[in-house]
Amino acid sequence: MKKAAALALWTLLLLLASTCCTPHALNPPPAPVSQSCSGTVDCLYEEVFAAVASRYPHLEKPELIPDPLVPNALYRFEQNQVLYWAGFLQTIMDGYGRKAVAGVLAHELGHAVCLNRLSTSAEECADVAAGCILFDMRLSIEPLQEWLRTTEGGGDYPPGEVRALLVEEGRNRCAMQSLVDRLKDE
Ligand SMILES: [Zn+2]
Repeated sequence: MKKAAALALWTLLLLLASTCCTPHALNPPPAPVSQSCSGTVDCLYEEVFAAVASRYPHLEKPELIPDPLVPNALYRFEQNQVLYWAGFLQTIMDGYGRKAVAGVLAHELGHAVCLNRLSTSAEECADVAAGCILFDMRLSIEPLQEWLRTTEGGGDYPPGEVRALLVEEGRNRCAMQSLVDRLKDE
């Protein structure tokens, strides 16, 4: 009798284990950035925007325009355009690599994401958004942070060290959100 009870208990436990621990279908992480974009800004921009669109499917894609007259890169909200000077991005590519360039493009697209968020300054919000976008692309934020730390800030820009922290905050927020979403799915 005792043996039968023990056997029944084991059967029940095995049954529970087989149902409770079947892996759930998690949302697949976004595809990592392909290596084909190493050289071109246009291609990298497409990949950064794909990450933005996965989180904000209704966001209208800003047009990317090379402009030798802008000193670095900027977002023009009236026209929904990202303008950049190729020399600026090339300098970042040479010094900090394509992940940092992706980060700069993510910052500019971050401005489009941040348009309706009035609680923080536009530059701070764009830095937070950049961290989130890089997380979605499964790219390290460190190259972007490294470059930001060399910037001095001023005007609307916080000091570089603060900007690096804002990027980290964005990365952490979206990493946490992603974790919560996964737990909800289970
Ligand atoms: Zn900006």
